[in-house]
Formats: sequence, C-alpha cells, structure tokens
Amino acid sequence: MKINDKFAHVVKFFQQTMPVAETELDHTNPYELIVATILSAQCTDKRVNIITPTFFQKFPVAEVLANASLEEVFEVIKSCSYPNNKAKNLIGMAKKVVEKFNGAIPNSIEELQELPGVGRKTANVVASVAFNTPAIAVDTHVFRVAARIGLSSKAKTPTETEKQLMKGFPREIWAVAHHWLILHGRYVCIARKPKCELCGLREVCSDFQQKMKSKQAKT
Ligand code: SF4
Repeated sequence: MKINDKFAHVVKFFQQTMPVAETELDHTNPYELIVATILSAQCTDKRVNIITPTFFQKFPVAEVLANASLEEVFEVIKSCSYPNNKAKNLIGMAKKVVEKFNGAIPNSIEELQELPGVGRKTANVVASVAFNTPAIAVDTHVFRVAARIGLSSKAKTPTETEKQLMKGFPREIWAVAHHWLILHGRYVCIARKPKCELCGLREVCSDFQQKMKSKQAKT
C-alpha cells in the first residue's frame, strides 16, 4: 500500500471511530496546561489529574509559582515521578514566564522551548492544545504507534517521526491526529501487548501484516 493511501485510510478510520480526540490532562488555561504537561513526563495523566487540583489552588498563576520554594512545590507533587527535577523545572519555568513574558505563557513553539522543563514535545502540546497552532507532538505513544502502523517506518527519533507525520497528515488535522495516535497507543496499541484483535487498523498496519506473514511462513 502506498504511504499516502495508508495515511488516508488512518484518517478515515479515526474520523469515524474517534471524531473527538482531546488531551486527558485537566486544565482551564495555558498556564495549567503547561504545568500538567511538565508533570506528565514519565507519569500517567490519571496521576497528574489527582495532583493538579491542589497544585492550582496553591500556585494559581505563574507569579505565585515563581516565588514558591522548592520544598513547597515538591510537597504537592511528590506522588509524581521525578518530583525533585519537576519541582525545579516548574519554578524555573514560572520565573522565566514572569521575567521574559510578563507572566503570560508564550504561544510560539520556539519561545515555549526557552522555558525550563519544556522540550519540543511539551512545546508542541501546549502550542497545539492551548493556542491552536498546528503541531504534532511526538511522545512515546505517538512514536511507537506511528512506527507500528508504518506511518514513520524509518524514523529513528521523535523529530524524524514528527516530520513524517506532518508530511502525511493534512495540516488542518495535525492537532487531532496527535491525540488519535496517543489515545490509540494508550488503550489499543499498548506498548507491551498491543490489542491487535480489537484494532480496526490491522488491514493497513505494517507490524500486524508482518506478524501474519511470519505466522503463515511457519505453518
Ligand atoms: S494492528 Fe496491532 S500493532 Fe497495528 S496498530 Fe493495531 S494494535 Fe497496533
């Protein structure tokens, strides 16, 4: 199957089965989203959503977080993975937002990446979800699912995957395509044991087709 046909099939499949696909991180504004996204690295969204109500109550805006102590922030986020590093990054991020951006989270991917704790993936998530900037954030789920289906078969890094997905998906659906692949990776195409028997993409999935061929060759 040609790569363009594969992308078209994947788009059609998700448009039919997952017309609404959004972040599962609870937030009401760009500040809350960037905090939640920083906390979500190597941590489940469920855990982050347990932590953030208290966090946003104690540190409701960047100015308050910028003046918080490491101990105060650590105490609130300690049930999350890497709390020490994340506490440092959160305070550093808030300080920079206050000093350089007058307390408002910047909306460009480049400026977002200037903030401590914000790599390309987090910047893409915030730009896309909070500011509607077309972007495809490649996290572990997107990287794995895109490779298995064969949308980014030769990509060795998240940046390469991002480029291939941006080429294959129409620009106007980049944001939703990112959520499709994340949610598919979280609930169906699971890292250790993908639920291929429940997956509607078997027909076009390179990984699945390869497994079938190997099975047939053995019989
Ligand atoms: S068929 Fe299996 S490997 Fe392929 S996308 Fe679906 S769950 Fe993942």
